[in-house]
Amino acid sequence: MAAVPRRTFIPPEHQHEEFADNPLPIGHGQTISQPLIVAWMTQELDVHPGAKVLEIGTGSGYQTAILAELGANVYSIEIEPDLSTRARRALDELGYERVRLRVGNGYDGWPDEAPFDRIVLTAAPPDVPEALTDQLADGGRLVAPVGTDWQVLVRIDRSGSRLARHESWPVRFVPMR
Ligand code: SAH
Repeated sequence: MAAVPRRTFIPPEHQHEEFADNPLPIGHGQTISQPLIVAWMTQELDVHPGAKVLEIGTGSGYQTAILAELGANVYSIEIEPDLSTRARRALDELGYERVRLRVGNGYDGWPDEAPFDRIVLTAAPPDVPEALTDQLADGGRLVAPVGTDWQVLVRIDRSGSRLARHESWPVRFVPMR
């Protein structure tokens, strides 16, 4: 996280709050996540270099950059075209050119590129979408805020056809649309 300047992902009017440990507006009613939560989710995800990672909710691209910095091959989906365009610009500016971004509905995942070693959601669905656990590789892990209004951070580990679910922190993310 020290290697990724959060400022690059924040609109000019909020850049003076770069080091505030809270979410900040990025337009379209969306937010760049709180750094502590980004750190916690990234740690939960347990990313290793070369891992194929699917992210749902590119938003500002900040979490995307953290994953790329850890050596992951990142595939990230964002439903709001303008946010995806701005994220691309920020990621290119910092040289994260291998990251693949797509505009679309994260509920579908990215079937053409499945399976993924890791899947992370940064918008909250009411339940973990089956299309996404279906795209999880054997030995793979998914981390997501799950629920409406307040949510809980859920981790799902796939072992063969078995899915093990573990819940940790209460969190609050924007809803997955
Ligand atoms: N990781 C981002 C978080 C952005 S907020 C960051 O730190 O900047 C979550 C993002 O999920 C928003 O940009 C929102 O537009 C997007 N989103 C919501 N529903 C979605 C869906 N169904 N598919 C893809 N993206 C979605």
